[in-house]
Amino acid sequence: MRIRLRLPATQRLKFLPGQYINIVMPGGIRRSLSMANSPEDEELVELHLRNYGGPFSTHVSM
Ligand SMILES: Cc1cc2nc3c(=O)[nH]c(=O)nc-3n(C[C@H](O)[C@H](O)[C@H](O)COP(=O)(O)OP(=O)(O)OC[C@H]3O[C@@H](n4cnc5c(N)ncnc54)[C@H](O)[C@@H]3O)c2cc1C
Repeated sequence: MRIRLRLPATQRLKFLPGQYINIVMPGGIRRSLSMANSPEDEELVELHLRNYGGPFSTHVSM
């Protein structure tokens, strides 16, 4: 799955290749996802998620 998170208009996110973010689900379940877009795209974060059948990928695919 391809997930694109757009940042608020006044915010920019600077990151380096290889960095990842942690997403915390309700109940405190925490999953790491690697940034899949270019660091030059400061307005959004793109994530590529494979469906492993666990709680996070099941939640996103619903
Ligand atoms: C630094 C880091 C970066 C990550 N980046 C990504 C990413 O860009 N995209 C992405 O889809 N996932 C990534 N993951 C894995 C991610 O954190 C989750 O584990 C994944 O999204 C599945 O979550 P889930 O809750 O659906 O399943 P989980 O409960 O996490 O896992 C379900 C089953 O799938 C297995 N599994 C989980 N992840 C993998 C994997 N990568 N390879 C093989 N088996 C696996 C687990 O061992 C378990 O048996 C990353 C993990 C780390 C530590």
